[in-house]
Amino acid sequence: MTSLLSTYTSKLSVSQLISTCCDEACDRQAVIDAATKQSPLFLPIFLSDIYRSKIESSEKLSAVHKDVLLKIVKTASAEPFCNYHCDIFEPIFGSTLDALLKNAVTEIEPPIVDTGISGHDILKITKEIIRELHETIPPSLKGIAGYIPDFTIKVVPNFGFAEYWPTSLSGADADELIVYDNPDQLGYQNFRATIIHEVFGHSTFYSFVNELQPPFFDHGAIAFLEGWATWCEWTTSHRDLAKHLKSARCKSLELFHGTNAEKIQSDIRTVTSLLGYSKAVASSSIEYYFQYPGLGFSYALGALWFEHRFSTIEPIEFFKSIQQKPWGDFFALW
Ligand SMILES: [Zn+2]
Repeated sequence: MTSLLSTYTSKLSVSQLISTCCDEACDRQAVIDAATKQSPLFLPIFLSDIYRSKIESSEKLSAVHKDVLLKIVKTASAEPFCNYHCDIFEPIFGSTLDALLKNAVTEIEPPIVDTGISGHDILKITKEIIRELHETIPPSLKGIAGYIPDFTIKVVPNFGFAEYWPTSLSGADADELIVYDNPDQLGYQNFRATIIHEVFGHSTFYSFVNELQPPFFDHGAIAFLEGWATWCEWTTSHRDLAKHLKSARCKSLELFHGTNAEKIQSDIRTVTSLLGYSKAVASSSIEYYFQYPGLGFSYALGALWFEHRFSTIEPIEFFKSIQQKPWGDFFALW
């Protein structure tokens, strides 16, 4: 356990460091001082080029800070790749981790022929989908409608898919669903799956937290939060699309034990392009793999765990059953 904690605390995400120093209001000196005491995670060359130009063109950084950050980027790109996925997920899933990885489907099911939505009124489509979802809740999500809160919807022309911000995180007056309008929203059914993920998955989750008031709640429990939302997505999407989405997530688990950084990058680029996504999605997937280890796999592993658990208990009953326990990435305890 001690060595595990030291792995967690000694490793530096250069991506997070650069975005904190270049984009956020913070005590830059303190952030940089803390970063220099850690060892950076392996950084692919194309990312080090991106980070270097971001640092050089930043107006928020002093010349001294730029110098230190450029040195960190240089060190990270010379770092050998070390895979920490077992260190991260074994304490989270315990002995079920091997079974989850072994049972994952490995071939990608074909995509569906989807209706394009580019150029359409995304806000109107979002509202239509939410209305339709309220009316057609599947039996596996029985009782969930009562947990969907009111929220505002904002459409932003930017890279990404969607985000859900509860008031407990944003401090705003109401929960907010932010939908990104770009060509990676592949079509109506794919977009509907995204809305399911955000609304059935994330909005209800925070309602459960508000109602059940667990003694502890970790907002950073990615496998718990994203696993639940991804399970909702697999359960409620158009049937053939759900098979495709699940198989694509599971296929990515082939890279769980990856050791060859070059091959991992080219495999991610091949699969994202096969799925129809832009180069920007491929690059951000590679960035997540190396600079936010475990984050990408949390979606599939969490959803696979819930899929197995919900074969014997209704989702709402499950959340009630852990009401007295701490809520975080603690699957091994449940
Ligand atoms: Zn999510």
